[in-house]
Amino acid sequence: MALIVQKYGGSSVGTLDRIHHVADRVIKTKQQGHDVVIVVSAMYGETDRLIQLASAVSQDYDPREYDVLISTGEQISMALLSMALNAKSYPARSFTGSQIGIHTDNTHTKARIREVKTEIIQRELQQGRIVVIAGFQGINEHGDITTLGRGGSDTTAVAIAAALKAQECQIYTDVDGVYTTDPHLLPEARLLSQISFEEMLEMASLGAKVLQMRSVELASKHGMPIRVLSTFSDGLGTLVTFEDKIMDKRLVAGIAFSREEAIVSLSGLPRQTGVEGHILDKVSQANIEIDMIAQSAAAQDTLDFTFTVHRREHPKALKIVEELANELGALSVKTNSKVAKLSLVGIGMRSHAGVASTMFKALGKAGIPIQMITTSEIKISVVIDEAHLEQSVKVVHQAFELDKPRTISGKQIYIE
Ligand code: ASP
Ligand code: MG
Repeated sequence: MALIVQKYGGSSVGTLDRIHHVADRVIKTKQQGHDVVIVVSAMYGETDRLIQLASAVSQDYDPREYDVLISTGEQISMALLSMALNAKSYPARSFTGSQIGIHTDNTHTKARIREVKTEIIQRELQQGRIVVIAGFQGINEHGDITTLGRGGSDTTAVAIAAALKAQECQIYTDVDGVYTTDPHLLPEARLLSQISFEEMLEMASLGAKVLQMRSVELASKHGMPIRVLSTFSDGLGTLVTFEDKIMDKRLVAGIAFSREEAIVSLSGLPRQTGVEGHILDKVSQANIEIDMIAQSAAAQDTLDFTFTVHRREHPKALKIVEELANELGALSVKTNSKVAKLSLVGIGMRSHAGVASTMFKALGKAGIPIQMITTSEIKISVVIDEAHLEQSVKVVHQAFELDKPRTISGKQIYIE
């Protein structure tokens, strides 16, 4: 008999009907002979509603009180789910994070979990009960309630699964799993049966919002496999696991993208040792996070320095760069606030040459200019005009045959 941790997201518990549906799913798992521990999110929209209440009362709220408020959404769903289970004659009990003993650091609104106590959970399981725990929250060393950042219930579930040495941490959501790219943008996107922790981290950091980043970090650290699957349909979903457990070997896992990017560039900047540090210093003093950076030698005594920021930071970044252009005697400032970033992610890149050239050729053939490029061991990112995003995802997806079962060096390894 295995222990399984299941987490149900906001849309899965969004209505009373859905809570009953979740209860039936939990019961099915229980009937298969498993012990089950459930983690729930707040009902769909509830956390947003609570956040609005907070800002309506005061723009300058105490983060301690904010956490007390926004942690309550999960308390509603945990009690309702327990009641639904009890009504179906399956004994269940709900607990908040502080009742269980989910200990965090003191950073209100985005606390990190330090330790999960298992005594209460073990006791309840021994009594044959289903344990339902509020996600997204914990308690700090002062006894104050903390929350784990938006989407934090995923992290609660992984932390509990790791502490209990569960067989698997199942994350139930409203999509079937992790896709090669966003199926809303590209209908031919394909469900991945498996993905490595590393690839999932890249996909999550690039805006594929299925899992909170921290939950993937934590799962990888503890070797806890995560399965992402749909509450509303049957299927095996996507297993996030270690690279060497992946049978479905492939060059590229998927394409992630973000639309909200902006590019800022200083061109014809007189060469001067240390100038790059000076520019970045000014930008970071304004609390602006830089994403990509490129520098090129335009002429013998000048250079071009280009970087990207989130679009909301664009006006601020542009102002700083204009001041820097004056101060440093740059020829001009160039900018484009309507760009997008597209990233190809795959552990297969480490050992296979030619991935970048296939990607760039596909974009070139489609007449899509690349404005900037960065690469890392398992990722190639390009910046393009936002207007070209859809077309770019399509041609790159095609170039790597992501709509087909996986192959590596032409040899088919695994067919679903
Ligand atoms: N309810 C929280 C949120 O909306 C946590 C979660 O759903 O994971 O961010
Ligand atoms: Mg979520």
